[in-house]
Amino acid sequence: DNQNLFAALRAAFPANLDAIAVETDDGLHYSWGDLERATAMVANLLASLDLPPGSRIAVQVEKSVEAMVLYLATLRAGYVYLPLNTAYQSAEIEYFIGNAEPAVVVCSGRNFGWVSKIAFKAGTGHVFTLNEDRSGTLLERAAHYSDQHIVAHRSADDLAVIVYTSGTTGRSKGAMLTHGNMLSNALVLKEYWGWRPDDVLIHALPIFHVHGLFVAIHGALLSGSKMIWFGKFDPRQVVARLPQATVFMGVPTLYVRMLAEPALDRAAVRKMRLFISGSAPLLIETFNEWRARTGHTILERYGMSETVMLTSNPYDAKQGERRGGTVGFPLPGVELRVQDEAGQPLAAGETGAIVVKGPNVFKGYWRMPEKTREEFTADGFFKTGDVGRIDAQGYVTIVGRAKDLIISGGYNVYPAEIESYINDMPGVAESAVVGVPHPDFGEVGVAIVVPKPGQTLQADRIMAQLKASLANFKIPKRCFVASDLPRNTMGKVQKAVLREQHKSLFI
Ligand code: ATP
Ligand code: MG
Repeated sequence: DNQNLFAALRAAFPANLDAIAVETDDGLHYSWGDLERATAMVANLLASLDLPPGSRIAVQVEKSVEAMVLYLATLRAGYVYLPLNTAYQSAEIEYFIGNAEPAVVVCSGRNFGWVSKIAFKAGTGHVFTLNEDRSGTLLERAAHYSDQHIVAHRSADDLAVIVYTSGTTGRSKGAMLTHGNMLSNALVLKEYWGWRPDDVLIHALPIFHVHGLFVAIHGALLSGSKMIWFGKFDPRQVVARLPQATVFMGVPTLYVRMLAEPALDRAAVRKMRLFISGSAPLLIETFNEWRARTGHTILERYGMSETVMLTSNPYDAKQGERRGGTVGFPLPGVELRVQDEAGQPLAAGETGAIVVKGPNVFKGYWRMPEKTREEFTADGFFKTGDVGRIDAQGYVTIVGRAKDLIISGGYNVYPAEIESYINDMPGVAESAVVGVPHPDFGEVGVAIVVPKPGQTLQADRIMAQLKASLANFKIPKRCFVASDLPRNTMGKVQKAVLREQHKSLFI
């Protein structure tokens, strides 16, 4: 039978195709039948181009329901979808298009000039445009094609998407995910998070990463649930729509921004069933504040481009409580191990490298066979690059990134430990500790601390408090107070930027 992910999503559409599948923040309604017909037309357009099997369709467009249709149509036609961050400029697009050699590029009309130049130089045969207002050549062309289409046959092991990682630790790598990777994960999450046909998801995330494109969209489609669709996240407007919703997914910064809205209260969330957070660590303070204000306990989960979702706090209270500061348990079917440098498994409570195995783990990095080999253990576990521990009850805690580990005078210093001490100090909103080169110690920590709104902080007071509570080798050698931390669109703190800024402090 057909293992195409789209076939499974399509089979989950409700019997009544006239029901509303997507309602947008600007008042448009799309029925399930609209999605069926639109994906068929775009799939027919793609099929008419006579592309070789495995062709990549690279897409850099503003968020819109039509952009989601293009994703679904690419699956439907059996090609490989390649989403690109809308923030990328010419140098980045040149790298991604040169690296992926897509057969088709779809971009915003206003970028057509420079994007098409890059694409044609890289051998791309077709460049279409798609704008947030549904104009552009992609839909103009698709309008000439039939709205009937037989879903292309694909096996579970066939490539469905290439997702470039966020580039938090270095140059983005293209993670190759198959139809089977994504469908197995979507089915597990549907069950684990108790998705229901009468759910209403607020979709306010970008759709060029795993969180918004896969976790959110597959979840809603696979249970035939409606989405309330926001082109951009606006905390006030999202809070205003909460009374009609049952599920919300956000990166931690979205929760922080919603907490700043006075309209967020228990009445606003009376129909809500589930708040999910991921992509970056959720501060325990945000977790607690959210519970106090709304009565809801945010469910934090953990995943990445290479694996889709790996762990989740329990949905069902029978399986345990949702524990703040942890990312919960490995999902059904996922094996997760914490190991030392020599690859030996560590005992409960001990901190080490997180490695994982499961049907959700990707095929490898696009055109990086060496790198792919390096990132798998001899027994087939993928090295996530994250450092963490598993407690006696099985809850997983992410301590940080292996690349962020500071080795100071031969001692391992985990920035997350220092950050959590700093974050607990009065007046501190958040902090980041990064390692920079030092002539005596090899590396030392530098702390960047952000005060809460309206508060002032003194760097020497923070240092003094740290000295009173932590071993000397862990104490950052310098502390700076800053108005914010550099973040990418997924809310991840860009430690590489901070390291670069402070790299010559001691040398
Ligand atoms: P790159 O691999 O290019 O350096 P990246 O790892 O940030 O970038 P993604 O695949 O988008 O790219 O992000 C996955 C990473 O996000 C995980 O490896 C993990 O470090 C982090 N992450 C995801 N969810 C959580 C979470 N709940 N808590 C802490 N970190 C998380
Ligand atoms: Mg990564």
